[in-house]
Amino acid sequence: MKKVIIIFMALLLTFPLTSCQKKKEKVEIVDDNYRNIYEIFVASFYDSDGDKKGDLNGVTKKLDYIEEMGYTGIWLMPIHRSPSYHKYDVVDYYSIDPDYGTIEDFEKLCEEAHKRDINIIIDLVVNHTSNLNSWFIKGLDAYKNGTISQYLNWYNFSSEPQYGFAEKDGVYYEARFVDSMPDLNLDCREVRDEIINIMKFWIDKGVDGFRLDAVTSYYTNDIEKNVEFLSWINKAAKAIKEDCYIVGEAWTSDVEIRKYYESGIDSFFLFSLSQGEGLLAQTVKNLKPIPQYKNALRNAVSIANGHIPAIFLDNHDTNRITGSMGRTKTEDTKFVYGIAAMLNGTMYTYYGTEIGMVGSRKDENKRIAMLWDSDKMNDLCKNPEGTTQEEYAYPGVKQQQKDENSLLNYHKQVNYLRNKYPEIARGEYEIANKLTTATLIAIEKTWQDKTICIVINFDKENTATVDLSELRDYSNCEYVSAVNGKAELKDKTLTLPAYTIAILSQQ
Ligand code: CA
Repeated sequence: MKKVIIIFMALLLTFPLTSCQKKKEKVEIVDDNYRNIYEIFVASFYDSDGDKKGDLNGVTKKLDYIEEMGYTGIWLMPIHRSPSYHKYDVVDYYSIDPDYGTIEDFEKLCEEAHKRDINIIIDLVVNHTSNLNSWFIKGLDAYKNGTISQYLNWYNFSSEPQYGFAEKDGVYYEARFVDSMPDLNLDCREVRDEIINIMKFWIDKGVDGFRLDAVTSYYTNDIEKNVEFLSWINKAAKAIKEDCYIVGEAWTSDVEIRKYYESGIDSFFLFSLSQGEGLLAQTVKNLKPIPQYKNALRNAVSIANGHIPAIFLDNHDTNRITGSMGRTKTEDTKFVYGIAAMLNGTMYTYYGTEIGMVGSRKDENKRIAMLWDSDKMNDLCKNPEGTTQEEYAYPGVKQQQKDENSLLNYHKQVNYLRNKYPEIARGEYEIANKLTTATLIAIEKTWQDKTICIVINFDKENTATVDLSELRDYSNCEYVSAVNGKAELKDKTLTLPAYTIAILSQQ
């Protein structure tokens, strides 16, 4: 009798009474470039040595947090020596900015990240350099004095004023963004050779890929030449490291992004889906969610055309999504992340978005200190100079970790599902039209002979009852709910609360 009870107890533990679960376990990470990437502005993230400036060792110290949250990649905004707080104007591409640490710190970060199956990509800013870069100083000097220098041809110098040019010491030079950021001459062979050297250098230090800044400005208003350059840089990177992942920032229309994918670059950020006015936020805010979500899904896959869609809601240049959704609208803020993360591709999360940080208007406001602990405000990194909004909409990491229903725990559960079911990011999708209604969508995704079904209830208030009898024999169900509801799968009927996403799988 005792034995029977033990077996029964064991069965209970193995098969919970309800077959819909909300659990977390350590999952195997697929070693490819469909990842959950966490974007970090190092200066505002975590300070390891008490100078109030975030640094690389600070990122290393927070790797356990990053791993626990289910991020499988990190994008570091520029880390090279630079005179600006944002560091998008590089003085020395072979250095780490002293505020951030040393090359050894960087190697340590890569090593520790890789132990946790987390990849590292870094910003590669080659449209322009800082005007304090020695290449520019030497080139300008040679042009001015009529002397010979290898750097004469590295920038576009002119003796006459031209549109998009700045002036120094009577010499004009192309500088499309600001005077302190002269544009490199990307037609110059030596510049291209140097870019290869830079990529080699950092791949050798441990990076897994690069985020290319401002690719539409490489050759301003010349998409053909931009595609040619991107195709070149992609081949060059893959010649150094076969699986080197490259994501390009082409802040432009879907039509142009589609064209940019012809370069063979792995990913381009899909701007039309991002931000408060983008397709995903509108899907949550509007009354006709399903046609819009179908568009988002179709666009993501079709624009990438066999490559990897790069999905994001906000980044260091945009207003933070929490403010765009409404800073008291926690359920909407959660749900928009949930539906974004159910799309195919790599999902990018800007640091602090997982705890609902806000920031808008000035760039500095979008890059304030990560809120680790609301009770220890004095321990935070110093905000960028010029910040005009310093408030937080939600408590810090420590507080949210203890709250089962926090934004942070919602993000964590979504990331866990993306990691556990590789079909979400990689699968060929088919919409189960028979189940789809005005507020509910069912999407089957197949990858490597395995099919799952994602069911999303877009209704903000009402629970949906879904008859699954016409689908495959799905017997497992895991879910994530933006309203803290409980999903249930029983006898081929799925009960799905408002704003809840279920992942159905077969035994
Ligand atoms: Ca520091």
